[in-house]
Amino acid sequence: MNLKKLDDRAFNECLEARIMSRGRTPFWEEKTRKLKSEGYDIKDKEDLRDKTRKWCKKRGITVNFENENTNTNIEVKQSPRVIVCDIESLPIISYSWGIWDQNIGINQIIEDGCLLGWAGKYLNEPEMYSDILTPQEAKKRDTYRITKSIWDFLSSGDVVIGHNYSQFDVKYINTEFLRHNLPPLKYTIVDTLSIAKQNFRFSSNKMKFLNDQLGIRNKIDNSGFDLWRLCSEGDETALKEMLEYNIGDIGATEELFYKLRPYVRNFNVALYNTLETEQCPVCGSTNLVKEGHYYTSAGMWISYRCKDCKCISRGKENLLSKDKKKSLLINS
Ligand SMILES: [Zn+2]
Repeated sequence: MNLKKLDDRAFNECLEARIMSRGRTPFWEEKTRKLKSEGYDIKDKEDLRDKTRKWCKKRGITVNFENENTNTNIEVKQSPRVIVCDIESLPIISYSWGIWDQNIGINQIIEDGCLLGWAGKYLNEPEMYSDILTPQEAKKRDTYRITKSIWDFLSSGDVVIGHNYSQFDVKYINTEFLRHNLPPLKYTIVDTLSIAKQNFRFSSNKMKFLNDQLGIRNKIDNSGFDLWRLCSEGDETALKEMLEYNIGDIGATEELFYKLRPYVRNFNVALYNTLETEQCPVCGSTNLVKEGHYYTSAGMWISYRCKDCKCISRGKENLLSKDKKKSLLINS
């Protein structure tokens, strides 16, 4: 059997277990057994611990357990704060003359759609953050409290990852911010749906389909439209179920992000630290190999391959000489 080299996913799992253990409960042996059974190449628990430490060091991640009585102090130094986030919304309630191909005017709207709940977490950290309307708030469609809580959460992030985030979530959230007079937030968006559309030809780009195809953790199912109707009516059990469903999406989005990460183009981890050596733009690793050159119509650059996440990047210096650049012809 071919053994797999330890990858980001395995290391993240170890990091998560280390944080959860709060430095008290042993877990290395169990993790070693688990990852070995998944086909990873690990000698023993010391080997796994060693490699995880090196992986963390490379990313500037330190986990302190100095203050045992308060919350675990996870200090991720010199890294951008990356959030995975997803929202749920309540549908519009409207008058309608029929059920097929309707064109609903604004004076037919009884209740406008609104934010129902949100869930999120920081990448590489186990805690989940979430909020949902209370039954009273749902009945009145009063979104102020949960809009404020998602504003507080998102304001702590440099980068936000989500599926269809740039076309749906961010606009929906901004609308709520504006309604409630909350100031705008600025962060880089990594949209897994856009990455899937731009780079691949899956038959569907729905997260459920993608995660199924890629064999990774998936969204949990819910009971469909009735669940949204019950939430809108302020049913407590339904609201609880919705929150669970919302939280389930986060794990699935995070796994999809890790799968698609080598194709991410619009953010650079290296901007957030002071290291002056070459770093992989998407995972921050310095474990890079030069892999030939990258050419455009105007120049030649060194091409790099990240040995950790496999992403391809290139240097910023055009390697062509001044004279060579001058002599270049452009196809016309
Ligand atoms: Zn990388």
